[in-house]
Amino acid sequence: MQKIIQLAVYPYGMINCFLIKGEKKHILVDAGLPGSEKTILKQLQKLGIKKEDIDLLIITHGHIDHFGSAKALKDELKIPVLMHELDSRALETGKSLRETLKPNKIYWNILKRKLLRDKAIPCTPDIILKGDEEFNLTEWGINGKIAHTPGHTPGTLSIVMDSGDAIIMDLASSGILLGGIAFHSRMKHPPFHDDLEQVKASINRVLSMNTNRFYLGHGHPVTRESLIVYRDTFL
Ligand SMILES: [Zn+2]
Ligand SMILES: [Zn+2]
Repeated sequence: MQKIIQLAVYPYGMINCFLIKGEKKHILVDAGLPGSEKTILKQLQKLGIKKEDIDLLIITHGHIDHFGSAKALKDELKIPVLMHELDSRALETGKSLRETLKPNKIYWNILKRKLLRDKAIPCTPDIILKGDEEFNLTEWGINGKIAHTPGHTPGTLSIVMDSGDAIIMDLASSGILLGGIAFHSRMKHPPFHDDLEQVKASINRVLSMNTNRFYLGHGHPVTRESLIVYRDTFL
């Protein structure tokens, strides 16, 4: 059975990346902060996932807590990296997209300064999605697709599985502070959004795709009802 497994970059759901586990081959989604590769690889090993069975690394957007270890994972696993062209500059330069780090709360300015200070090893994407093109994952052995869901950043990508599971990463957030720890189903803004109107349109889009469970970059998975509450309360 194909399923989504949450991997911890920081514990308690503070920063997550994901493994889409297929029948034989698997896909990694996001790469955490710079220096996260060992943490991620260790969890894969514990799950009994063989390195050579991971075929693709999808980077959902150009914030360094999501692409920071892309180059290290690409080299270690010898796999192509996929990203949207509107965010690919971040991967190529190793720097977060500064103009998209618009704090949703004043105290996130502290995190903004850290993310702008951090630098990743630059990495060239191998597969670049353009415009609103959808990317089918069946040729990678996964029943699902990648959709362009802008708003958090211009090039944010979501992964929607035929099963109704979806990885929407930073389109929404749950828990307290940086996710996790407590109040798992309480919805909140992630630290930043570039364009709230676009976030709303993108959430409506994923809600229209027969989805019922949503995996987040910060916080734990939430239900369709919770995502609707987020849209109606925050957007
Ligand atoms: Zn982000
Ligand atoms: Zn994030």
